[in-house]
Amino acid sequence: MSRSSFASKTYRTQGLVLRTHKLGEADRIVVLLTPDRGQVRAVAKGVRRTSSKLGATLEPFMLVDLQLVHGRSLDIVTQAQLRGPYGQSLAADYARYTAAHAMAETAERLTDADSESAAPQFRLLHGALAALARGTGDAGQLLDSYLLRALATAGWAPSFTVCVRCGAPGPHTAVNIPLGGVVCPDCRPAGSSSPAPETVELLAALLAGDWDRVAASGPAHRREGAGIVAGYLQWHLERVVKSLKHVERA
Ligand SMILES: [Zn+2]
Repeated sequence: MSRSSFASKTYRTQGLVLRTHKLGEADRIVVLLTPDRGQVRAVAKGVRRTSSKLGATLEPFMLVDLQLVHGRSLDIVTQAQLRGPYGQSLAADYARYTAAHAMAETAERLTDADSESAAPQFRLLHGALAALARGTGDAGQLLDSYLLRALATAGWAPSFTVCVRCGAPGPHTAVNIPLGGVVCPDCRPAGSSSPAPETVELLAALLAGDWDRVAASGPAHRREGAGIVAGYLQWHLERVVKSLKHVERA
């Protein structure tokens, strides 16, 4: 192979490892979210051998700088440098680890190989994993905030302030998941739920990333809010995010 054709097949990018699975005896398939290429599926060869330096780098929730070469079906990782070792600190804490899993599964569902919407989804996931790995803040609240903002970034922004149907200013307490948030008494369709007003306030704070207001919330409202977030996510993904049910709630 000539030098120029090798160069045209090689590219560099940064990625967050969403998921990995075994391939053959020693290889691993790595699913990454990159800001410039969307989702990338690549083969990391020989990484399951104990001598492999790539192995510990290409684990879930790691931020890595990569060099890849285009392959016939999957691209091949030729170099990987660890930039954010989030997976290491997350592996030590079950609640944070399961929250990271639910984030990564959601990011995988909300993105594809198209690069158009990848950058904002990448930034959002990077911020959320870094916050989880820092160990500050409640894992469940970081997760719920991420889920609402990831859905909003995908074009499904909910409203927990103004009525989603007529725009009447809130606060409103009836929530309608198919409509995408709170509805006023005039618009309220049958089948809307009536969570506590504090839960609706919490959801608005989670969507806005208003952590002072989130920190002031109580456990009952957090649980109720988590149920609404999970329902909203499921409605749009038309499928359950499996790892959500493993998340431990404070
Ligand atoms: Zn209304």
